[in-house]
Order: sequence, then structure tokens, then C-alpha cells
Amino acid sequence: MVKENLNLNEVVSRQFDKAARHLDIHQGLLHQIKSCNAVYFVQFPVKIGNRYEVFRGWRAEHSHHRKPVKGGIRYSEMVNQEEVMALAALMTYKCAVVDVPFGGAKGGIQLDPRKYKEEDLERITRRYTAELIQKGFIGPGTDVPAPDLGTSEREMAWIADTYDAFHPGGINNLACVTGKPVSQGGIHGRKEATGRGVFYGIREAFSNADDLKRVGLSQGLAGKRVVVQGFGNVGYHSAKFLAEQGECKIIGVSDITGAIHNPDGLSIAKLAQHRVRHKTLLNFSGARNLSRPEELLELDCDVLVPAALENQITLANAKRIRARVVAEAANGPTTPLAEEILLKKGVLIIPDIYLNAGGVTVSYFEWGKNLSHMRYGRMQKRLEEIQTRTLLQSTEELIQRNFPAQILERLAKGPDEIDIVNSGLEGTMISAYREIRDTMRRSRSIEDLRTAAYAVAIKKIARAYVELGVFP
Ligand code: NAD
Repeated sequence: MVKENLNLNEVVSRQFDKAARHLDIHQGLLHQIKSCNAVYFVQFPVKIGNRYEVFRGWRAEHSHHRKPVKGGIRYSEMVNQEEVMALAALMTYKCAVVDVPFGGAKGGIQLDPRKYKEEDLERITRRYTAELIQKGFIGPGTDVPAPDLGTSEREMAWIADTYDAFHPGGINNLACVTGKPVSQGGIHGRKEATGRGVFYGIREAFSNADDLKRVGLSQGLAGKRVVVQGFGNVGYHSAKFLAEQGECKIIGVSDITGAIHNPDGLSIAKLAQHRVRHKTLLNFSGARNLSRPEELLELDCDVLVPAALENQITLANAKRIRARVVAEAANGPTTPLAEEILLKKGVLIIPDIYLNAGGVTVSYFEWGKNLSHMRYGRMQKRLEEIQTRTLLQSTEELIQRNFPAQILERLAKGPDEIDIVNSGLEGTMISAYREIRDTMRRSRSIEDLRTAAYAVAIKKIARAYVELGVFP
């Protein structure tokens, strides 16, 4: 049996090379685009109870062709330098795919957050932030972290506060990190942005009847059977929007505590309550516990959404995957050898560097909001209401009929921040999908969406490097 290389850096590198073969770009330039520009490794002590513990952390800045660089911070026992570098590279390509003007970065601390108290996590996060500040690996114009696996808006607030303490009076300090609580300079819609973007991306893929016919499915999301691996920020929100707005049937869900299955569909709202109450997904009313959680990936379904970790669909299980669409909400869930098998089976893979880009898209909006020091919509909301109301009243006078009061209210309502954020995200996900799909259709040799997405990204980054030149 072939031994598969599961090193994420190798995986990303192979994906890059596969796309680069289709492009007329100089080898030296390709090498520069692919290389990780800088990695900072740090070990620091933190007092936990009455002892000291030394933690290992990293921050990788993959590409500075656009600044600041941007990417999440991961807390996991499995974090290592290679993984952080690979995830930073994915961030560079992702930003290019959705036209977010940032380079890619990623950070992480090797720890299992479930093993620490909140006050310990706060001290660890603040010390890690102080280390990043010392070496210039964080700042509104240099490097802007965000949440990732094992971190959330709570950690982002601690990071913002620590940065502020080191830069008194800095008017743009809040823009040093995104994914903050709304009350701390965050933006409405960021928490759910990645999952919402996953929904928009899958919905866009399901709007193309020809593509769906090729994988043996009908157009449209309603009634499609979906399995979601991971029930954290991305998994939960993906499942929620696919069920509520896409009218999909979520038939299987898993997280670190186990996997459950109900072919008739699961209520995501009730499952979330069950998870909070019992601290596990298992024993959910009406659902069957899977004895082997890995079985979840192999369930009979239309769409499989891996939303947990990398290397989940590998040579070991690819042949047993029955989904017709694999929608990569997580980073790096499918290995290259598994992908070959899936593509041969005619499975449509919606790639991570496109599908989970909703998070960084709304982070970009948050960063812009912090630098402008004003909530989106604040200046124009009332003006738009007045203008629309005047237009509607004139129309009523002309046609000698009145709009029903409810419709009038809806039409005349000026946009709130959440409306602006969601429509910006929706537009971004739709146009990026179309650009990737058009690239694939126009090329005679590119046959899958991932290769097309990489081709789109590499071309944009190459253009930036050519225009900038090389210093000195
Ligand atoms: P999270 O920590 O909120 O949730 C992770 C989930 O995965 C949890 O439910 C956990 O129980 C589950 N999990 C862990 N190990 C598992 C296993 N072996 N089997 C099944 N489930 C398991 O993290 P998140 O922010 O939702 O991130 C999930 C993925 O999405 C990661 O790959 C991350 O890099 C990617 N991502 C996150 C964002 C974001 O905005 N948070 C943006 C882009 C990509």
C-alpha cells in the first residue's frame, strides 16, 4: 500500500504545483510566491497555579505582497511549525481568491485549551501577544490575527487589550486583530461569517445545473442530504445556514465527543442546546450514535462538509466516501491522493481556499471599520430611508394605489451594519465562485475547482510581485 505524506506543507505545495503547471509564469517568481517569508518561533513561561509551564508558539508570515498579512491563531496540541506555515500559505491564496488585499499569515500555540482555566488561557494569550509585539509580528499595518481552531472572540479581545497596553494612545490599535466581540470594536456578522460564506459558496455551486448533472444531482439545495464534521464555529454555522436558508436536511454531525446520524434530519438549534447542556453530541433524541466516529465521513449523503481538521479524507477512506459533493469548510481536509480518487469518482470538490474565505472577508470589513472609527451604515442609513420613502410615496401618487404597510416598511428600511456585511460577503462569495468556475471552463487543461482557484490566486499574486519589483 502507498504510504501517504500527510504533512500539510507538502500537501499545499503539491496543490500549488499542480496549478502552476497550467500557468505561463517564470519558475523564480513561482518559487517566491510559494515560499514562506518569515516564521517566528517562541517558547515562553506562564505561571499556572503554583507551577511554571513553558509553551511553544509560532507566527508565520507567508507573503508580504500585500500588507498587512492576516490569518488566525490556533490553539491545539497538534500545532507545529510546518502546519502553521502551510496554513499561512493557504491564507495568502485565499485572500487573493476573494480579492482581500492582505498577505497570508497564521499563528498557533501548542496546547489543548480544554485543559486550562479561563484565567490561565488569558495569561497565555497575553504573554504570546507580548512576544509577537516584541518582534513586530502583530500590528494594524503589519500582521493582523483572527480566531481559528480553539480560539474565539474572547481571545481576540485579550489580544486587542494587550496590544493597546503596549501602544498607549495608538488611534488604530483596535485594528491589530479581528474577530473581536462587537462591543470591543468587532463587527456584526463576523462570528458566523465563515459558516455563512460556506453556505453561499455551496448554494452557488448548486445553482449550476450542468455541473450538478455531471455529479448526478439536481439543481438547488432544498432537500439535499448534508453531513457536517465539526460542530464548532464553522461547522455549527455552516449547518445552521444550510438548514435554515438552504432548506437542506442535516443528517449527520460529529465533533471531538463523537458522531450522530439521523437519515430523517437533525434540528441544528436543538442539537446546539443539547451540546451545551450535556457537553457532547451523543445520545441526541432520535439520532443514532456512531460506534466509530470516522464512519460519519462515509455516510450516504449528497454533500459532505468537513469543518474540523486537516487530513480527514485520505487515501485510507477516500474510496468509501459516498458524498457527491465535498465542501471544504476546514483548511486542508482532503489529501492530494484522496482528491485523485474522488475526482475519478466524479465528486465535485469545493476547495478550502475559496469556500472558507468568508471569515477573512468579514475580517477585512472589520479592519476597515476599525480604521475608519465608524460603524458601517451609520452615515447613510437615515438618508437612504428618507430617499426611498420619497420615491415610494411619489410612486403611490402616480399609480393612485398604496403599498401594503408591511412591504412599505421593508422597502424603506435603511441598511444596518449587519445588512451591509452580509451583502458584501454574499457578493464576494458569488463573484469569486464565478471567477474560479470561468477559469476552469476557459482552460482546456484545468479539470477541478481547486486547481482553478489556485490558478486564479497565483496569477493575481504574480501580477502584484511583477508590478512591485524586487527590493533592492
Ligand atoms: P472550533 O475550535 O470552533 O471548532 C472545531 C470543531 O472541530 C469542534 O466542534 C471540535 O469538537 C471538532 N473536532 C476536533 N477534532 C475533531 C475530530 N477528530 N473529529 C470531529 N470533530 C472534531 O474551530 P473552527 O473555528 O470552527 O475551525 C474549524 C476549521 O475551519 C479549521 O480547519 C479552521 O482552520 C477552519 N477555518 C476557521 C475559520 C474561522 O473563522 N474560525 C475561518 C476559516 C477556516
